[in-house]
Parts: sequence; C-alpha cells; structure tokens
Amino acid sequence: MSVLVFIPHIQENPSKAQVELLTYSAHIAQAQNLPLVLLTGQKISLGAYGVDKLVQLANLEQMETALLAMQTLAKQENASTIILGWDDFGKALAPLLSAKLKAGLVAGAISLPNAEGLVQKAVFSGKAFVSIQIKTAIKIIALMPNSVGVQTVAEKNTAFAELTVQTPAIRVRVVNVQKPEHAGISLQDAELVVSAGRGLKAPENWGIVEDLANALGAATACSRPVADAHWRPHHEHVGQTGVAIRPNLYIAVGVSGAIQHLAGVNNSKVIVVINNDSEAPFFKAANYGVVGDAFEVLPKLTAAVKAFKNQ
Ligand SMILES: Cc1cc2nc3c(=O)[nH]c(=O)nc-3n(C[C@H](O)[C@H](O)[C@H](O)COP(=O)(O)OP(=O)(O)OC[C@H]3O[C@@H](n4cnc5c(N)ncnc54)[C@H](O)[C@@H]3O)c2cc1C
Repeated sequence: MSVLVFIPHIQENPSKAQVELLTYSAHIAQAQNLPLVLLTGQKISLGAYGVDKLVQLANLEQMETALLAMQTLAKQENASTIILGWDDFGKALAPLLSAKLKAGLVAGAISLPNAEGLVQKAVFSGKAFVSIQIKTAIKIIALMPNSVGVQTVAEKNTAFAELTVQTPAIRVRVVNVQKPEHAGISLQDAELVVSAGRGLKAPENWGIVEDLANALGAATACSRPVADAHWRPHHEHVGQTGVAIRPNLYIAVGVSGAIQHLAGVNNSKVIVVINNDSEAPFFKAANYGVVGDAFEVLPKLTAAVKAFKNQ
C-alpha cells in the first residue's frame, strides 16, 4: 500500500502551497507507515519533503492525461490515500478521480486526519466546520492551500520512475500558460498582504496601496467588485469566489468585510482594518482597527514603515 500525491508541475524550489501539500502527504504516510509516492511532470530531488518515490509523466496539465495517470498509478502503487491540492486543477480532477475510483473525497480539507481518521473542512463560507470520515477503501483528500502549514517530516532517499499511459483522447488542450502581467509577490505564497476595496474610489488611487505593499514587501489583493470593475486584475480577488489566503498579516483598506470577502481571508493570523466607517462589519474580525480616511492613513503608514526599516 502507499500514499499517493499529485502535483502536475513542480520546480527545484517548490512553492509554499506545494511544500505544504508534500509535507502534509508525507505526514500521513509517516503516520500510516506507508511510502509516499509523488506523480509529477519533473524529475527533481524532493527527498527533503519526505517523498519516497517520484513518478514522472509529461503533459499532466492535460486533464484526461492526469486522470488516467492517477487511476493507473493508484492501482500500480496500491494507494490507500490519494492527496491533491484544492486549487483550480484539483477542483476539476478530484471529483473525476473520486467517481472513477469509487473513492470517498474530502473536498477542501483544512486539517490532517485525527486519530479516528476525521478530516476537517470549512462550510458556510468559513462560518462552521465539519469533520468527515471517509469509509471507502481508497480515500481522496483535496487540501485547501494555506490551511495546515508546513509539517515536519523525515528526509527520504527518493527513487525515480517513469509512467507510461496510452495518450487518451484530449477534449480540451492547454496551448499556452501565461503568467499574470503583475510580476509581484504571489498572493498564495505571501506572508504579508495589503488589500483594498471600493473605498479607494477609483483605479488610479491604487498607488497608495502599492506604496505600502512595496514598503512592507507585501503582495496586493482586492475585493471582488474591484476586480469585476477591472480596477485590479482578477487574480488579486480574494474571498469565497476568489483566492483563499492565510498570510501572517492581512491589511484591508476600504473593504466593508462582507461574509463572502471574509471567507477567503479570515484565516489570516493578524488582520488590520482601515475604514472611515466605525460601523464597518470588518472591524468585528479585526485584531487591529484604524477608523480613518484611507487617503490620509495609508501615506502616513507607509512613511512610518519606511522610517522603521531605515532605523
Ligand atoms: C455569491 C457571491 C460571492 C461573492 N464573492 C466575493 C468574494 O469572493 N470576494 C469579495 O470581496 N466579495 C465577494 N462578494 C461581494 C460581497 O458581498 C461584497 O459586495 C464585496 O466584498 C464588497 O466589496 P468592498 O468591501 O470593496 O465594497 P463596499 O461594500 O462598497 O465597501 C467599501 C468600504 O470602504 C469604506 N470606505 C469608503 N471610503 C473610504 C475611505 N476614504 N477610507 C477608508 N474606507 C473607506 C466604506 O466605509 C466601506 O466599508 C460576493 C457576493 C456574492 C453575492
């Protein structure tokens, strides 16, 4: 038996979300005394993350190839637990795999299985949690990024293998993957995030948000209406229908704190809210709050950060 983890594309320095996924899987493998097998597109050394065997296959970003490869490998390696990320690709792959393997799935897990095998996930936009026990022989866990942090795992000597599968009929082909033009810090991996909402009034006012983010070394984010109005790119939109993040510090400027926004950010370690309305709902979720005009507060905060860093 084995624990099987899927990451379609990985580099020598895996992203924070990938390290989290690998060490989460290694932790489960370690607890069950089973080898950890990784299916990925690249042949690189990942022993430090507890990978016992790396199985390589090209074109894993094609859904049909990934599905067939995971089915084949799950059988070959006699996988008892299969783990993938609850990201855009995982959200499409996990239910397909679950149906093909007749395996129970926890979609968007936010915890390691406890001693009884119960895994937690958030429901009602993060307002409640449920604990789920999968009873099928093969268990699939799709892990929410930024939910469990990096686990401590024993280093392994990784064995390498290649997988061959009959190329399936491809119905959707990925022809090009384009990185967003904004080449700043990746939101998913950022420890510090400065986010702004409709309170900023217009896209040309984002300079004060970027100045604070640059001074702090933070990524920028925004509320959904801001992305919908094309004031900011959609990859910056956080919340229920956007990216879910878990930074150490989340500064929300001119964001009201609607439940759908909070769903993506309420796991941040420290939340700072800047809003000119003392009744704004976001203050209830904040660790620190500033009641004030963003256009006055932000330049002062940026100047204070710069002065502190130059000390
Ligand atoms: C199905 C569904 C899914 C959704 N998903 C998401 C999601 O994923 N993410 C998301 O963000 N939203 C989402 N929404 C929208 C959400 O309900 C809110 O409408 C949205 O978050 C509000 O955005 P906002 O806070 O930027 O704007 P507003 O609600 O207009 O708030 C602006 C805030 O700025 C403050 N302000 C104004 N001027 C200043 C100033 N000069 N200085 C300081 N503060 C100022 C105001 O007091 C106010 O609190 C969703 C809605 C639905 C129905």
